[in-house]
Amino acid sequence: MINYGIDVWGQESFIIEDGCVKVNYGNKPSLVDIVREIRENGHKGPVLLRFPHLIEKQIDLIYDKFNSAFNEFGYQGKFNAVFPLKVNQFPNFVRQVVKLGKPYGYGLEAGSKAEIIIAMAYNNDNAPITVNGFKDMEMISLCFIAAKMGHNITITIEGINELELIIEVAKRLGDPVPNIGLRMRLHSVGMGMWAKSGGINSKFGLTSTELIEAMDMLKSASLLEKFNMIHFHIGSQMGDIAPLKKALREAGNIYAELKKSGAVNLNAINLGGGIAVEYSQQAKKMDRNYKLEEFANDVVYLMKGIAAAKGVNEPDIYTESGRFIAASHAVLVAPVLELFSNEYESKELRLKPQNPPLVEELLDLLESMNDKNAGEYMHDAIDHMESLLTLFDLGYVDLQDRSNTEILLHLITKKFISLSGGSYLKEIKTLQDTLQEKYLLNFSIFQSVPDHWGLGQNFPIMPIHKLDEKPTRSANIWDITCDSDGEITFNIKNPLFLHDVDLQSEDYFVAFFKVGAYQEVLGMQHNLFTHPTEATVEFDESGGYEIKDIIQAQNLIDILDDMDYDIKEIEIRLRHKIADSRLISEEKKKEIMGELYVYLSENNYLRTVQF
Ligand SMILES: *Cc1c(COP(=O)(O)O)cnc(C)c1O
Repeated sequence: MINYGIDVWGQESFIIEDGCVKVNYGNKPSLVDIVREIRENGHKGPVLLRFPHLIEKQIDLIYDKFNSAFNEFGYQGKFNAVFPLKVNQFPNFVRQVVKLGKPYGYGLEAGSKAEIIIAMAYNNDNAPITVNGFKDMEMISLCFIAAKMGHNITITIEGINELELIIEVAKRLGDPVPNIGLRMRLHSVGMGMWAKSGGINSKFGLTSTELIEAMDMLKSASLLEKFNMIHFHIGSQMGDIAPLKKALREAGNIYAELKKSGAVNLNAINLGGGIAVEYSQQAKKMDRNYKLEEFANDVVYLMKGIAAAKGVNEPDIYTESGRFIAASHAVLVAPVLELFSNEYESKELRLKPQNPPLVEELLDLLESMNDKNAGEYMHDAIDHMESLLTLFDLGYVDLQDRSNTEILLHLITKKFISLSGGSYLKEIKTLQDTLQEKYLLNFSIFQSVPDHWGLGQNFPIMPIHKLDEKPTRSANIWDITCDSDGEITFNIKNPLFLHDVDLQSEDYFVAFFKVGAYQEVLGMQHNLFTHPTEATVEFDESGGYEIKDIIQAQNLIDILDDMDYDIKEIEIRLRHKIADSRLISEEKKKEIMGELYVYLSENNYLRTVQF
């Protein structure tokens, strides 16, 4: 059975049973049952499922592994974590993070004014808030207001000018002044696609000279006792643990040096985010070379060692990992709308009594191809096809001959692949692509997996049912945007096999896993495909589940409203065009207008007729 690497990326959160992908929790419902239930209530098109128990699983894991490491090494500091809102600010996610993190005092990280407002409104009492990113006077004032509300908030300084602003705002708004963190510019860098946040040339942070200058400024403004944290972030999705260790050594020593030079209340190191998620569907090509446990142990061991060597207190540890917390909670399920194949059968040939000689030759190659001559005949066939296409362009053969050429080449290619049994690998690779089936899925890559479009990031993809049948079609995926980049391609090295389905008589769903981090808010409205319908699947004590918090994908009118179209004007224009049209009879006009209104109230995704 093909398991689509579920044992590599699935963390035992999903399992295959009875031919279906099931949620490995509670009474283990299958994804396809959940999706059908949602669709039966009229929600067609793609659905984004949120599983709060998978958020809880990640929060538990991170606290558990760090606290175990603290115990094992007898570490004196405290462990703290905040969720970086930029990874997912959607309300049905954030409310769950806050609720599920409450027992731990899990906090929030904000990187913009709007995110600070979310943190101010929703953060758990006494849980930390950290604020990163570039700031102006208003943003810093918001932090002071949060402090006045009683929030435990730390502003991380990205550059000296921000410190000047804080000193100014402190004069105006007075106590309580938020805690102050300094972001270090490390010379060690992360690696991989998202490594740019670290390193000496990174966008963010203070050089060692600026750190010393910052300390002096704080001292003369009598704010030095507010400086409690140093911060770094070496990039997202750290696949390799080596750069982290290097960064920790550097950061640990900076911490100790600053402490020794008078930073009396400095007591925390914030590691930023970066803990990687396993997206790979192949055991041979894993995305990360460590487990969370190793990560936590390395942090604690290294910090303990540096603190001991330099004779300073062991710092509290903060993490801002977001991808690790959010990615696995969301699954996008998209219905397959159509299969586009180049699959021809010999009965489709329409041979003439008299065919062009090259077509006759193709017929001959097909009949006499065997395991000895397969390679040679294949090359001859490709050559003939190219000549025939040229003859068509020049007007010497007709469309019927061209169609026969297409079909014959397809049949020859199939025979070649079955006969050559692996030799001629290079040819097979290119030919296989021409035989690939295109599965048209009701979703937008730009909206739902933008990192695939922008960065080539892969997400685990698999059908969620029919898994007790052998998938026989080598597939590529098309989305419904009118953009040729709206495609996820696979090849012989990394194939995706899907089932041969008759969509006239059955439905077929493909799921994209681990889409809960970054994808939703980065999603683009290309062709005006907006956020898909979402639903939260929550389990109760008895193991049953409830589908809650359904938010429909925006309807057409709201989409246009969001683009700042004048909706009233659009309605008036449409109404007049129908009223004035001489192509619609008077008695039909009301009916047509009614039908138009129904469409305006529906979302932009396609509605499959049968299912
Ligand atoms: C983006 C970011 C994070 C989150 O990174 P992940 O890779 O999602 O864990 C944490 N801290 C800062 C400062 C960031 O910019």
